[in-house]
Amino acid sequence: MSIENTTVAAISTAQGEGGIGIIRISGNEAIEIADKVFTAVSGKKLSEHKGYTASFGYIKKDGEKLDEAVATIFRAPKSYTGEDVAELSCHGGMFITKEVLRAVLEAGAKPAPAGEFTKRAFLNGKLDLTEAEAVIDIISAKNKAAARAAISAKEGALWNRIEIIKRKLVTTAAHLSAWADYPEEDIEEVNEEKLKQTFNECMFDLNKLLETYDKGQTVKEGIDTVIAGKPNTGKSTLMNLISGHNRSIVTDIPGTTRDIVEETALVGDIVLRLSDTAGLRETADEVEKIGVRIAKERIDSCGLVLAVFDFSRELDDDDKALIEQIKDAPVIAVINKADLDGKLDEGYICNRIKRIVKISAKTGEGFESLEKEVANIAGTENFNPSEGILANERQRNAVFEAKGALKEAVNALEVGMTFDAVEVALEDAIEKILELTGERATEVVVDNVFHNFCLGK
Ligand code: GDP
Repeated sequence: MSIENTTVAAISTAQGEGGIGIIRISGNEAIEIADKVFTAVSGKKLSEHKGYTASFGYIKKDGEKLDEAVATIFRAPKSYTGEDVAELSCHGGMFITKEVLRAVLEAGAKPAPAGEFTKRAFLNGKLDLTEAEAVIDIISAKNKAAARAAISAKEGALWNRIEIIKRKLVTTAAHLSAWADYPEEDIEEVNEEKLKQTFNECMFDLNKLLETYDKGQTVKEGIDTVIAGKPNTGKSTLMNLISGHNRSIVTDIPGTTRDIVEETALVGDIVLRLSDTAGLRETADEVEKIGVRIAKERIDSCGLVLAVFDFSRELDDDDKALIEQIKDAPVIAVINKADLDGKLDEGYICNRIKRIVKISAKTGEGFESLEKEVANIAGTENFNPSEGILANERQRNAVFEAKGALKEAVNALEVGMTFDAVEVALEDAIEKILELTGERATEVVVDNVFHNFCLGK
């Protein structure tokens, strides 16, 4: 895979109004092109500057001043892409940034497709493929843990874990083939037990990596959560407490929340994709019946149920029916209205639902205990996102296949097949790992990775 020898440009900041907008130019002619549109107040040309230099001036288009700007110069290989880069920071208006980009394109740059800068960084060896993918994850992180995981991956946390496995396998493969191909040389004999041990160690490490995937996805994507309970237990109030603003309508009339309300909110470090459902009571109201049916379906398919009970009222048949329905689901019983006098039989719930928290959705009392239980149910309590985790399906699949190939190598050893067969399986495992890091990825794989990027990155 090679880089086309063109100089490309794009707006690298988000489209909208902001303090600053940045137009990034990368390629052999980046600085020359920037010089055509930018005039420094010092009178000094950008091409006369060293790398890591910023100068203040203005952008010209069609012979007129367009905007004030700061031009920053990076010289190859010390830039994001590994090429010469010029970044023009102008005011962050939609019109202005587009006009500056147009001036840059008229001066000779080509428009950069989505992800082009990071793709060039990858092709120039500045990043491996997992580190490049981490760039998208940093941009799209919705919480601290997701950002931490992505930044660590960008700094090579996942690459380091993979590199250890790769080194072991490559050394073993080299030894195997040297021993088989040069029998007359004085090469240490291949020891079957030692081979098996190496493969098993690598499979163990690959398995540990695979285990990071589900937790990583939970941290990144969040959990589909249903807030369930009979009318007037405080579901809407709880939803508002979690999401921090008045999203659903709160009233004293039982059955007010008839539809499913969708919301995304953070509880501790976990994103919950919340639906506040209609109460699960028996009803003759046709509209409410539909809400109740949808709520039941959601409970059966979601990742977490927050089942709300009213501390100030006695348990009734609707509460008991709900407990019956959710007892096998991942559920936290939320005993709400803890600020009022209690009439609820807590023991009945305790005997049927493992996780219980007592809160007042109205005052916020007890919210930390809910945060703790959510982290507990998500399995992220002892999860360290900085240690290098698999971030997407492509990575997971490559690790899964590498592990499968090693299993075949072990099987081949166990049934007494020739070392040739072991070598083929081992080469297959190495191939998958090199595909994961991008060292031997096909153009289709690489294009697919960068296809997910935004323009200007
Ligand atoms: P939903 O029908 O389950 O969605 O219940 P709502 O959230 O609409 O709440 C019903 C009533 O209970 C409203 O008057 C709320 O102000 C009140 N409420 C909700 N949570 C609490 C709480 O923790 N303490 C007290 N005292 N009242 C609450």
